[in-house]
Amino acid sequence: MNVHEYQAKTVLRDFGVPVPRGIPAFTADEAVDAAKALGGPVWVVKAQIHAGGRGKAGGVKVVKSADDVKKEATRLLGSILVTHQTGAKGKQVNRLYIEEGSAIDKEFYLSMLVDRETSRVAIVVSTEGGMDIEQVAHDTPDKIVSISVDPVANICPHHVRSVSKALGLDADLQKQMSPLLTNLYKAFVDCDMSMLEINPLVVTKDKKLVCLDAKVDFDNNALYAHPEIAKLRDETEEDPKEIEASKFDLNYIALDGTIGCMVNGAGLAMASMDIIKLYGMTPANFLDVGGSATKERVTAAFKIITSDPNVKGILVNIFGGIMRCDVIAEGVVAAVKEVGLKVPLVVRLEGTNVELGKKIIAESKLNVTSADDLDDAAQKIVKAVKEAA
Ligand code: GDP
Ligand code: MN
Repeated sequence: MNVHEYQAKTVLRDFGVPVPRGIPAFTADEAVDAAKALGGPVWVVKAQIHAGGRGKAGGVKVVKSADDVKKEATRLLGSILVTHQTGAKGKQVNRLYIEEGSAIDKEFYLSMLVDRETSRVAIVVSTEGGMDIEQVAHDTPDKIVSISVDPVANICPHHVRSVSKALGLDADLQKQMSPLLTNLYKAFVDCDMSMLEINPLVVTKDKKLVCLDAKVDFDNNALYAHPEIAKLRDETEEDPKEIEASKFDLNYIALDGTIGCMVNGAGLAMASMDIIKLYGMTPANFLDVGGSATKERVTAAFKIITSDPNVKGILVNIFGGIMRCDVIAEGVVAAVKEVGLKVPLVVRLEGTNVELGKKIIAESKLNVTSADDLDDAAQKIVKAVKEAA
């Protein structure tokens, strides 16, 4: 789960990590009140969206008067910010963060993430902070240093030395790096983060290390243990179809294509997406209904797929092992009866109770094309969509 920058900074502040003082604002008036409470003389007006790259897109403004805070707040609130992370559609700005301004001497990059290869938390640092770290990784990979942390030993003096060396810190800054790294790591582990990115971590003109930006991703599988963090979820930042899917425990990811897919098992879902591509079209979603889907869940899944206006055809591909084909068939029939069917539907059933499943669909008199195997199914749905267009 992603959270906003100001929420991430609140969490980090509680762990003793140095972040600038700031106040969130939902209206221009609140932004001005926040600026007055902070005192100035320099403020930063920051758009709060679940995407980076705001600076380059005009979503981060350093200003020197309360009037300018108001001007920038008015401009940003309600506007659509298109950054290199939002996609072309952009994201609407509904919240702002008003911060005290920092005088920057140097900008570094520092992140922590779970490294699956070493099964440890990796600390990634670079002197090239503030800009596109992906570009740095591509053009000058030697400027990125990765250090892994033994989960038993936690942060040790040698980590602090390695990070400080990589960033070229002097003795005084190295002294500040010790609690900063220790507290960031503690926040990461205690809150079950999967990713923590500070870009930039700055050295201010008065020689202080400060986390000027914070992007945090929490491990969804651990959220049940952190109700106070789960509350930070901002559903307006998420795809409504994905929110609906999560209520039914469906593994659903919205994509840009035109073929809606309802599949059981992540592997089969990936294979179905691949084969749709092979036959020249693109999937509208990834959807794994799981091994224990009920008729209600299948119905919900079908409704989510049909609610996507980009969907021009639907492929149901079920290999019934634990999942029974008749349950899927009942779910499909129930959903079609409820929401109707305006696009071609191809169903491929195989496995447990397959004959019963096919019978349910045949007797429903719905306009469904059945298919014998994955290859056949993919060809049929692509052909049907082309013919309907
Ligand atoms: P992002 O573009 O979404 O990653 O947003 P950031 O929070 O990283 O801000 C983008 C850039 O704005 C930073 O890299 C800084 O260069 C600049 N910036 C942010 N806060 C301040 C500040 O307090 N003072 C100054 N001078 N620049 C700032
Ligand atoms: Mn940033």
